[in-house]
Amino acid sequence: MRRSKCKMALPLPFTEAIRNPQVKFTKIFINNEFVNSTSGKMFQVTNPATEVKIADVQAGDKADVNKAVAAATRALDFDSPWQSMDASKRGRLLDKLADLMERDTAYIASLEVITCGKPYRDAFFVDVLSSVRVLRYFAGFADKITGKTIPIDGEYFCYTRHEPIGVVGQIIPWNFPIPMMIYKIAPALACGNTVVLKPAEQTPLSALYIADLIKEAGFPPGVVNVVPGFGPTAGAAIASHPGVDKVCFTGSVEIGRQVMKMAADSNLKRLNLELGGKSPIVVFEDADMDYSIEKCHHALFFNAGQCCMAGSRTYVHEDIYDTFVQRSVDRANIRIVGDPMDTATESGPQLDHAQFKKILAMIESGVEDGATLRCGGQRHGDIGYFIKPTVFSDVTEDMRIGREEIFGPVQCIIKFKTLEEVITRANSSDYGIAAAIFTSDIDKVMLFTSRVKAGTVWVNCYNWLTPQTSFGGVKQSGIGRELGESAINEYTEVKTVTMKAPAKV
Ligand code: ADP
Repeated sequence: MRRSKCKMALPLPFTEAIRNPQVKFTKIFINNEFVNSTSGKMFQVTNPATEVKIADVQAGDKADVNKAVAAATRALDFDSPWQSMDASKRGRLLDKLADLMERDTAYIASLEVITCGKPYRDAFFVDVLSSVRVLRYFAGFADKITGKTIPIDGEYFCYTRHEPIGVVGQIIPWNFPIPMMIYKIAPALACGNTVVLKPAEQTPLSALYIADLIKEAGFPPGVVNVVPGFGPTAGAAIASHPGVDKVCFTGSVEIGRQVMKMAADSNLKRLNLELGGKSPIVVFEDADMDYSIEKCHHALFFNAGQCCMAGSRTYVHEDIYDTFVQRSVDRANIRIVGDPMDTATESGPQLDHAQFKKILAMIESGVEDGATLRCGGQRHGDIGYFIKPTVFSDVTEDMRIGREEIFGPVQCIIKFKTLEEVITRANSSDYGIAAAIFTSDIDKVMLFTSRVKAGTVWVNCYNWLTPQTSFGGVKQSGIGRELGESAINEYTEVKTVTMKAPAKV
């Protein structure tokens, strides 16, 4: 993900307010008000670095989703402030929200650190400030969403309108809570939709704070509603609600499949899915060795390996394999794992105990399947869900670690001989979110980029996501695209208007 080039600097030295931010909002946000859950139920949010409880949050379920959908539907009423607002004004509201997020970057980053465990530096520059740029990109789009006039046959005049879809349900995961929220709400709002969003149950706090900024920015009541809660209750209620016109989901393939079924069985609502990945990075012997080792390291270990687009299959040419493996191990061994509030920290803990256990079990399976564990493989420290940076060599695609998404700090290095072979092996996955090649040979680049099956292909770089470019997957990595102009298409319906004309016009 792109780091900000803006002039914002880390608020050093960290004060107590940055290290232990006061949690301001823990209720459900409907109609620009914070309210208790209908059931009266709450759930706990825990800091993964310390295992200490941070807050109790109101647990929304079907009854609350119903209220949120009703508010989002009213906000679209004929002559409602949102419905009758100029498109340019929608853009200004998004810009204002970007200003407010920028104003509160230090605080929002703190909330993200205590719930996700990501390093403060990443939360500040990547999660918050990259999201600000996404808001500004879509703010500019609001009054540039245009149809066409079409020279149809006969004495008719024809034009198209690109209209909002209606009420959009958005279900987001815990690994990038702020970007996932902004990638979804920004284009939806630029296009004039209204939103019911469910943050992940592990990380609801930043979404609730941003909800308050949405109100402060001046968005009318009901335009954005945020319902914290669990997947099978609140999430399923959104996916199966007959009043929701589209559902956008980011998460696992397993739940994505369920969301697709619920969308089909309820009202055939439109659907976007952004799911898992097992992305191949191919490194040739003619690549810059130092640079590609560092990029492959970052591609996997960024966000403690908890990225759908992580470069989780590192294919290295046989001529440089042994050296590349040894130097990747050396790099992993000096990766700084620890307190996310320390600015030197490169990796924080995994999200929670469930993820921690799952990753350690995958590491065990790698050893049992015959891969060579070169470093790491165990917990780091005594408190918190930290795992040592782990590198396996001699990995093959028939092993679970070579095939399944680990979602943790486990680099799997695979040996290959030829370009044709590696393209076939790269494509042998059920996933297809991203791929990359490191080489100085343009012919290899041309063949690889055209033949590899992936939504994004990086050449001599990785993790370079920008607001202007579409992001999403092929095969079981998903359906549809976020960001870029594609996102505008995803949040509008095309209406064809045909008029009888007095003559050919
Ligand atoms: P992960 O394995 O990364 O936690 P999930 O796919 O389980 O990913 O969760 C992603 C999001 O989907 C979260 O907001 C979660 O609450 C939600 N979710 C989980 N189960 C369901 C479900 N049955 N229906 C709708 N949403 C769900």
